[in-house]
Amino acid sequence: MGLKLVIGPMKSGKSFELISHFAPLKYTDIPFALFQSSRNVRNENVWTRNGLQLEAKKVGNLDEALNKGYRIIGIDEVHMFNEDIVQPIHKLLKNNTKIIATGLDLDYKGLMFPIIKKLFELGPEEIIYKKAVCEICKSPDAVYTQIYKGKNPVLDGLPAVVPEDGAYTYKAVCRNCFVKK
Ligand SMILES: [Zn+2]
Repeated sequence: MGLKLVIGPMKSGKSFELISHFAPLKYTDIPFALFQSSRNVRNENVWTRNGLQLEAKKVGNLDEALNKGYRIIGIDEVHMFNEDIVQPIHKLLKNNTKIIATGLDLDYKGLMFPIIKKLFELGPEEIIYKKAVCEICKSPDAVYTQIYKGKNPVLDGLPAVVPEDGAYTYKAVCRNCFVKK
């Protein structure tokens, strides 16, 4: 029961964590569902870098997850949702639904997404902080996601959830390599 958060920068294995939880459920009678934000234009499924995938429903909020009898719910890239999902998540938790949510904790400025703060306020049962390999210095403790336009980091002027239209690239970077405004 309860809420489990799996958070960290790009390329830190968050989706793999989600898939390893949910893939075995396909072979059980446990009712479960996996959700993604309809703002995520990148993919229809939850993919890991080793090619594993699970089907996820694209939704604007999580009202669709209510009253369906799900016992376990997964939320991929939870930072892409707005704060409207806190209320249905709260209801689901009160209903003893287990929720596993993965996503970035920090935006491109190094600030925590408001939705992640709200999830912390729900009193998660478990929080797993994933780290990635820094794409600049190769140290194994990248905790930030830096957004680049061409060769330069973008420090300002973007929405917290940046549209994935190919104009920007994303790099996991460590504390020493992260450039702040
Ligand atoms: Zn570094």
